[in-house]
Amino acid sequence: MNIKQDVEKIIEILDKLYPLADCTLDYKDPLQLLISTQLAAQCTDARVNMVTRTLFKKYKNVYDFAKADIKVLEEDIKSTGFYHNKARNIINCCKLLIEVHEGKVPGTLEELLKLPGVGRKTANLVLGDAFGIPGIVVDTHAKRLSKRIGLTRHDDPTKVEFDLMKIIPQKDWSRFCHQLVYHGRAICMARKPMCSECAISSFCDYGRGTVSKQ
Ligand code: SF4
Repeated sequence: MNIKQDVEKIIEILDKLYPLADCTLDYKDPLQLLISTQLAAQCTDARVNMVTRTLFKKYKNVYDFAKADIKVLEEDIKSTGFYHNKARNIINCCKLLIEVHEGKVPGTLEELLKLPGVGRKTANLVLGDAFGIPGIVVDTHAKRLSKRIGLTRHDDPTKVEFDLMKIIPQKDWSRFCHQLVYHGRAICMARKPMCSECAISSFCDYGRGTVSKQ
């Protein structure tokens, strides 16, 4: 297997299948994306979008979130799960944005990673989608598909991210990860991947049967 050639082919096919693959969270600015991504931990994007539809009308900017009553915010975001941690992180994150970044979301990985509740997945998503700076976003779909296809042997998201950085052209990072999410939802589901209907099966270790099927 020539991984570089296979990756080129996979990108070509995914570009045709999902030319408009994008973040499925609804947001109007970097702050809304940052908060939506934090809410999306262990929750579906569809559920987060339902919650933020009213949340962003109530809390209109970073100052509204920073001075929010934690108990009230917890109730507002309860249906996204892990709401104690999420509410605390969102308030602390917005306080820090005001104290250190004049209320704005910073546009570097290093600064984003210093914000409460922001890990590499969130930071890379915000970089790619809010600032147009390529980032590898390893969510549950990207992790599963990368391993099945044979782009990584790792399960740890940071190791997967660094493996993908080595073989995916930088300009394609953000789009490729969104496409993996789309493909993971449509064809390569966690429990039952539909390999016989998959357009990239000839370039996928799992599809070619060269790795054991779980
Ligand atoms: S061939 Fe199967 S395992 Fe590989 S990406 Fe397609 S659906 Fe997933």
